[in-house]
Amino acid sequence: MSLRIVAVAAMDAAKLEASVAQELGGVAPTRTLGSVDGLVALEWSLPGTPDEAARLRTHLGARAIPADIAVLASGNARKRLLISDMDSTIIGQECLDELADFAGLKAEVSAITERAMRGELDFEGALTTRVGMLKGLGLEALDQAYAERITLNPGAATLVATMKANGAETVLVSGGFTYFTSRVADAAGFQSHRGNTLIDDGKALTGEVGRPILGREAKLTALDEYAAAAGISRDDVIAMGDGANDLAMIKASGLGIAYHAKPVVAAEAHAAIEHTDLRAALFFQGYEAKEFVG
Ligand SMILES: [Mg+2]
Repeated sequence: MSLRIVAVAAMDAAKLEASVAQELGGVAPTRTLGSVDGLVALEWSLPGTPDEAARLRTHLGARAIPADIAVLASGNARKRLLISDMDSTIIGQECLDELADFAGLKAEVSAITERAMRGELDFEGALTTRVGMLKGLGLEALDQAYAERITLNPGAATLVATMKANGAETVLVSGGFTYFTSRVADAAGFQSHRGNTLIDDGKALTGEVGRPILGREAKLTALDEYAAAAGISRDDVIAMGDGANDLAMIKASGLGIAYHAKPVVAAEAHAAIEHTDLRAALFFQGYEAKEFVG
């Protein structure tokens, strides 16, 4: 088999080429994927086995090059389904932590969020605990949190628009809440969304979550259901996220990407975005900058 190595960085193209080529035995890039807003991407093709890919990934990871470098198997580069986490992936915030701020409980709630995303707490237990702490919070806090706090991460809309323009299905799947997933899906351009439901009494949150809770396994189930509906295999899917509850879908997909992720996620993903933005996920699929939409 052969390997495809894609390096994306906010640096001069010649410097990126030299930094990476040095680690690849001096081999020159096969093609340039172009540049956009100061980001530059280069692609190499090399012979190699899956074992060699794993060794190369470890080697490059240890070199501290300020670039996002994916070491992938050649073939089937462009995926036909994008399934992405929302909080701290497509948006820069954790919705539950922002809501908690309106209840004066941000420190308490975000401490639990952090531990859950690291995989130190059971996701469902941590979710019900945090939502329980918001009992009595007026529904206007949801509108205010969305309007004042929530922002798309750089590259989110371009990633979604470009994949859609190339025939891919795009799905936002979140352990967060449909109040937010519906709005964020619209803002970023996703065709579908799934999330948990915050229960309210018409005026305020009751502190309860609708059942069944969408957790780690439900994200994998969503991947399989959307893939089946599209008539494609897991290998045709790109899955992306930052937290422990994203790990099952990330590992199952053909291209699982850890986005500014917790260590437990970054260690098991196929590639990571740490230095650049969500557009790196397009370069990893072999898209050229000139093909980007939006
Ligand atoms: Mg997340």
